[in-house]
Amino acid sequence: MSAIESSLKNLESAIRNIADFPKPGIQFKDITPILRDPVLFHQSIELLAGPYSGKDIDAVVGIDARGFIFASGVALRLNAGFVPIRKAGKLPYFTLEESYDLEYGSSTIAIHQDALKEGDRVILVDDLLATGGTAIAAIKLLESLKVHIVGISFLIELAFLDARRKFSHPHLIQSLVTYAAE
Ligand code: AMP
Repeated sequence: MSAIESSLKNLESAIRNIADFPKPGIQFKDITPILRDPVLFHQSIELLAGPYSGKDIDAVVGIDARGFIFASGVALRLNAGFVPIRKAGKLPYFTLEESYDLEYGSSTIAIHQDALKEGDRVILVDDLLATGGTAIAAIKLLESLKVHIVGISFLIELAFLDARRKFSHPHLIQSLVTYAAE
């Protein structure tokens, strides 16, 4: 097994499944054991950043809240800046907002309107890709700022939800640990 394969296996083993959290029927993927382990945390950042090394990334965009943890590490690793996308109402300056549907109701995310400039080379990072609603809304925000999206990276992808088909550029998606079935 290669070093990368063995790191991926260790990451997968550390992810803890919590049934019925935060509500019945959800299998919550708890990544806190990865964060608590210095070797695994470091490996997760190295593996997320790896594909973008030498690709001249200006900024890593992280999604509220667990996405911030990984995006910050990746930004430091790539000598890039960090840009937060937050739930609406949390960012202090002028923002662009995008709403998207949840299973029940909807949610709105926001980015500072001056966080990025046209043509910036950015990657989007979040902890987990489930239905894709959050990431697709984040991509819409990035598209309205006219940046160049070099990649979209997740620690975990719930592949059985088949979110990739909803993305206009699915080939940009990278994920470290994939669940083929619930
Ligand atoms: P979605 O918009 O459906 O792709 O959901 C992605 C967002 O919801 C990510 O920011 C995740 O942190 C969170 N999320 C969705 N499903 C799960 C899950 N099963 N375990 C942990 N986090 C989840």
